[in-house]
Amino acid sequence: MIATYRGPRESRDLGKTLIHEHIFVRDPSLERDLVHDEWDRDTAMDRAVAGLTALHALGVQSVVDLTVPGLGRDVGPVFAVANRVPVNVLASTGFYVRSELPLYFAFHGPGRPVDTPEPLIDLFVRDIESGIAGTPVRAAMLKVTTDAAGITDDVARVMIAASVAHQQTGVPITTHSLAAARNGLEQQAFLRAHGVPLDRVIIGHAGDSVDVDYLRALMDAGSTIGMDRFGMDHVLSDERRVRTVLALLRLGYADRMVLSHDAAFYSVATPPSWRAAMTPRWHMEHIPRVIVPALLEGGASDADVQQMLVGNPGRLLEPTASRMGQEGKVAGPA
Ligand SMILES: [Zn+2]
Repeated sequence: MIATYRGPRESRDLGKTLIHEHIFVRDPSLERDLVHDEWDRDTAMDRAVAGLTALHALGVQSVVDLTVPGLGRDVGPVFAVANRVPVNVLASTGFYVRSELPLYFAFHGPGRPVDTPEPLIDLFVRDIESGIAGTPVRAAMLKVTTDAAGITDDVARVMIAASVAHQQTGVPITTHSLAAARNGLEQQAFLRAHGVPLDRVIIGHAGDSVDVDYLRALMDAGSTIGMDRFGMDHVLSDERRVRTVLALLRLGYADRMVLSHDAAFYSVATPPSWRAAMTPRWHMEHIPRVIVPALLEGGASDADVQQMLVGNPGRLLEPTASRMGQEGKVAGPA
C-alpha cells in the first residue's frame, strides 16, 4: 500500500501520476520577517484546489508533492487542500540542502555537542512510518539533493540517512540532480555504496539534459530518470525535452522514464507573478494538454505514455517490502 494524504492506496489505484511536483514551496521564517505580498495562505490554497481539480478532469489521478524540509514543507495547508480535491496527493520526506544543513544539525547528532542518534534518520523514518509532524500524513517518497556544490558533508549526511531510511521502510528515493554537471552518476555511486538498489532510485531533473549517453548510463544502471521539468523553458525548451524522450523511447527505455513538471501553485523562489510573465507554460496541466499530444505526434505509442505516467510511478512508489510480499522474492541490490 502507498501512503497518500487521505490514507493508503493500492498502486493500481494511483492512475496517471505526476511524480515530481510541489503544492507550495515556502520559507516560514521569511514569511514572518520578509513578508512576501504574493503569499496569502487562503488564496494559495484556493489556487491549489482549483488547479488539482482541473488536473483531475484531464485524467491525472495522483500528484507527488516533493516539498521536503528545506523547501518549507508544511503539511497543514496541504492536508486541507488534499481533502478538497479528487486527486490523490502524496507527501514526501528527506531534506533539500544544496550545501549546508540548518544550524540545529551542526549541534545534534552522533559525536556532536548535543550527542544524539542521527536526527535525520529519526525524522525520515517517523515521517514514513508514523506520520509527519504529529499528523497521520505519511510520506511516500524520500528526496535528496545534489546541486553545484556536489556531495558536501551535509549533503552526504542526508543521503546516508535517506539510504538507511530506505532500507528500513522500502519507500523509493528520488534525487534533485544537476544535469549540467551529469551528477546523477555520482548520486548513483553514492547511494549504491550505501546499500540502495538503483532500481529504487529516480534521478530527478535528468530531463534537463539532452545528453543521451548520460541518460542511458543512468537507466542502464537500473534507475528511472525524471523527465520532470516540462514547461521550464528557462532551463531547457519543451521541444528539446520532447525530442529527448522520443529518442529514448525509440531506444526502448519506456519503462525507465517518468514525466512531471516540478511546478508549484506557489513558490517563494519564483512567485506566481514571475511565473505568469516568464514561464506561462510551467504548470501541472501542461503534460496532459500539450506534452502528451506532442509525444504521440512524435511517434510515441499510447502504451509508452501509459507506461511513463501510470506503470512506472506505480511500480516505483510501491514500497519494496510489500513488493517482496507480492512477488515472493527478496529484491537484492541492483
Ligand atoms: Zn522539485
